[in-house]
Amino acid sequence: MKLQLIGTGSITAPQTSASALIDDSILVDCGTGVVKELMKQKVNIFDIDTIFITHLHADHFFDLTYLILLRSFNKVKNKLKIYGPENLKKSVDALFEIGYADLKNIEKIFFDGKTSIVEFDSLNEKVNDYCLETVLVKHGKTEPSFGLIVQKDGKKIGFSGDSCYCEAIDYLVENCNLSVLECSMPYNNADHMGPEIIKQLSAKGEIIVTHMSLSTREQLEKMNLENVIIGKDGDIFHI
Ligand SMILES: [Zn+2]
Repeated sequence: MKLQLIGTGSITAPQTSASALIDDSILVDCGTGVVKELMKQKVNIFDIDTIFITHLHADHFFDLTYLILLRSFNKVKNKLKIYGPENLKKSVDALFEIGYADLKNIEKIFFDGKTSIVEFDSLNEKVNDYCLETVLVKHGKTEPSFGLIVQKDGKKIGFSGDSCYCEAIDYLVENCNLSVLECSMPYNNADHMGPEIIKQLSAKGEIIVTHMSLSTREQLEKMNLENVIIGKDGDIFHI
């Protein structure tokens, strides 16, 4: 699998919101700034046929509106399936209401049978050649918040989404060939992980760190951990 890091920043960082692309077709999270970053990285956004939204925070799903708009403007024919937590559809509708109130009949224009939103409690689904499996992570009071495992040809890539350290994170790192983990805070709290937890987890498996603030990025650089890659926007890996 090809893994492309689209964004690796937390909301406080200059890097784009955390997002990753697998094999040019599966996008994990589509928060603020992601669509423009996809363009900068010369990704054909219309080749994306699956989007997975980990949880309903702005930096993880607000750019869905732009992506749906661009598909509509360009009369894109291939289908797009957007997987996300309960209330995703309502939230995207609300974004259109606020942001593009002049556009009438949004249902007809934007959800014309080519773009669909699938809300789930848990997922263990075959999508094209991939198996998508969700894990329930802990992200403060934001419930549900999901992590994701993408599997193809016996290889697994894990994504923490936003999470504090919890059993699901151990499960990801222990079961995946590579885990893309968030590290937003200098110290672990109820919402996010910090560099010390990344250090502990690195004993269990290979990690790419994302969703970093500038200070956690600096801290991780100083720690120079084995088994840990500090993600940069645009990095590409083959697993
Ligand atoms: Zn969040």
